[in-house]
Amino acid sequence: MTPAAARPVTAETAPTSTGARRLEGAPFASEIRDRVADEVKVYVKDHGHPPGLAVVVCGRSAPSMVYLERILKACAQVGIEASFVDVEGADVASQEAALTEAIEGLNDDPRVAGIIVQMPLPKGVRLKTVVDAIEPLKDIDGIHPLNAGLLRLGYEGFIPATAHAALEMIHRSGVDLRGADAVVVGRSPVVGMPLAFMLTKEDATVTVCHSKTRDLAHKVRNADVVVVAAGKPALVTGAMLKPGAVVIDVGINVVDGRIVGDVDFESAEKVASAITPVPGGVGPLTNALLLSHLMRAAQRQDQAKEHFAV
Ligand code: NAP
Repeated sequence: MTPAAARPVTAETAPTSTGARRLEGAPFASEIRDRVADEVKVYVKDHGHPPGLAVVVCGRSAPSMVYLERILKACAQVGIEASFVDVEGADVASQEAALTEAIEGLNDDPRVAGIIVQMPLPKGVRLKTVVDAIEPLKDIDGIHPLNAGLLRLGYEGFIPATAHAALEMIHRSGVDLRGADAVVVGRSPVVGMPLAFMLTKEDATVTVCHSKTRDLAHKVRNADVVVVAAGKPALVTGAMLKPGAVVIDVGINVVDGRIVGDVDFESAEKVASAITPVPGGVGPLTNALLLSHLMRAAQRQDQAKEHFAV
């Protein structure tokens, strides 16, 4: 494995007091937003209007409203036209019907280039409802089976933004993935599994762990790269890590009113060579990457129109 120090150390990857480089998401997110803002200007020149992002919220909750506020603000910063659809229903069946109707309406709206549906859905409302309704070319968070299948087979589709952000952080750590041992803790369709496929494509040897995994510490201890996306505070500690490992913490948990990840940062930073903090690591990058996915969607829709024009 190439030592992570082979890359220039910049302000955003500066060593912590104990040696591990802290991989902050904000500087990378800002680079991505600047690039998207330039692309939006070109798009507006060509189309006479900005590309549109629609956020569908089914069942308001405090976290989903905070997230919505963040994404609307990020869109405003780069000139993307963002809209918000609030889906309501008295029971699960009417919520699912309203969700389908809202998504199908957005599929048909030529000013909307990308659609995201706020997760988690209310209890009982099936993800399948979203998956069945969403147009794959507008599915910028990669939940449609067509996009998941493209990723699985190594083609270019839309990948879930969180998994993309975790991979981007690994790249920014400077680690050489070819032949590296990677452990992904979590096998969800939005984080763990897409990331495992992407790491495999980049020639890492990947072990996927989950709630039934025996001796997680043993698996983690062999890894050059550890990604934790389980939603369990302090699931991975410094004592479990191989010295010099790159540690990417995707988890978001609230403990005693504080946001923490899935990794015990204090002990892990003493052993890792690079580590993402929570908050401030993968999260900010996820939002910025969603905006860049939106631009890709707008461009692909233009290409599809050209392709099928008669
Ligand atoms: P999820 O769907 O609940 O999946 C959690 C995964 O972790 C499952 O595969 C589960 O195993 C595994 N797991 C649970 N407990 C475990 C344990 N003790 N040991 C090993 N594996 C265990 O969650 P998700 O949607 O993937 O999200 C994961 C975390 O990332 C959450 O904290 C979420 O809030 C956070 N997140 C962050 C962002 C961001 O932008 N940073 C975005 C989305 C999510 P089983 O499959 O066996 O149940």
